[in-house]
Amino acid sequence: MKIGDAAQELGVPTHVLRHWDDVGVVVPARVPSGHRDYSEEHMYRLRVVRACQAVGISLADIRLILHRDEPGRTVIIEAQLARIRAQQAQLEGAERFLVHVVSCTHDLLTRCPHCSEYSTASRAST
Ligand SMILES: [Zn+2]
Repeated sequence: MKIGDAAQELGVPTHVLRHWDDVGVVVPARVPSGHRDYSEEHMYRLRVVRACQAVGISLADIRLILHRDEPGRTVIIEAQLARIRAQQAQLEGAERFLVHVVSCTHDLLTRCPHCSEYSTASRAST
């Protein structure tokens, strides 16, 4: 598949795929004329890169994750998991707070133990 078609299928500009090629993230084959040729395997890898980017993993880290034998791979994945789980915990805290606030009977949030508890917890985690 030509780079233009691959980029269109992925929904990114072609310069993004050229950059990913240059930095070794997804390196397609080359046809004799020199043009890039993306196989199904390359397309699969491109989709994985997009998915990793969507959850905030840097291109440098994605490059390591894609190579199974890379020594630092597990550490990077564990670090990303820890980061995502921390965000999850923060969002869950915010959700509990808002669910409570909507039915909080105190005239001032500062007089409510539940509301105060949340403000203390969110300060500690940031
Ligand atoms: Zn409250």
